[in-house]
Amino acid sequence: MSPIDKLSQLFEKFPGIGPRQARRFVQYLLVASPAMRQDMAEQVRSLGTQTAQCKKCYRWFTKEHKIALCPVCADEHRDKSTLFVVEKDADIDNVERSGYKGLYFVLGGIIPLASEEPEKHIRLKELLKRAEEDANPRGDASMRLQEIILGLSATTEGDHTREILAEKLRGSGKISSLGRGLSTGSELEYADPDTIASALSSRS
Ligand SMILES: [Zn+2]
Repeated sequence: MSPIDKLSQLFEKFPGIGPRQARRFVQYLLVASPAMRQDMAEQVRSLGTQTAQCKKCYRWFTKEHKIALCPVCADEHRDKSTLFVVEKDADIDNVERSGYKGLYFVLGGIIPLASEEPEKHIRLKELLKRAEEDANPRGDASMRLQEIILGLSATTEGDHTREILAEKLRGSGKISSLGRGLSTGSELEYADPDTIASALSSRS
């Protein structure tokens, strides 16, 4: 297979990218400068060597000083009483801009409507374990988790996932969802920080 076809196939694996768009990316790289192609290849390679997945929230972050936790989880000043559950890493960046100061957990997906095995699509086991551990911290009781905020998109699959999580997390303390500030169909990743802040303050 030619490098053009091979690379097209790789781009097609990206979320939301079809064969035509994949071809356009390859065409762009063909006419780009050798330095740009070189830089691109190196950055892709360094994703594997310079980043790590946080052991607590599962988001990807740039490794510094061999710390196993991302900057948010490693920050002692974050509010340990709330855990914001999101679908993907990009949601965290957006929620951070809203001024939220608590902790996070990345589900790594969403549960499709027809699925009978939710744990195949999201980090359910890991979330239950985290909720259990944070609700019973060793030592300081002021570090105790008091509320889990289900920050899922206002889509049909988001609602479905929220229902299943609320059921599975029953007994893990207060479970809340974002308020209606988030309009129907909107995804957290694209909501503006003010909307998220208002949806957070009107959570229930
Ligand atoms: Zn983390």
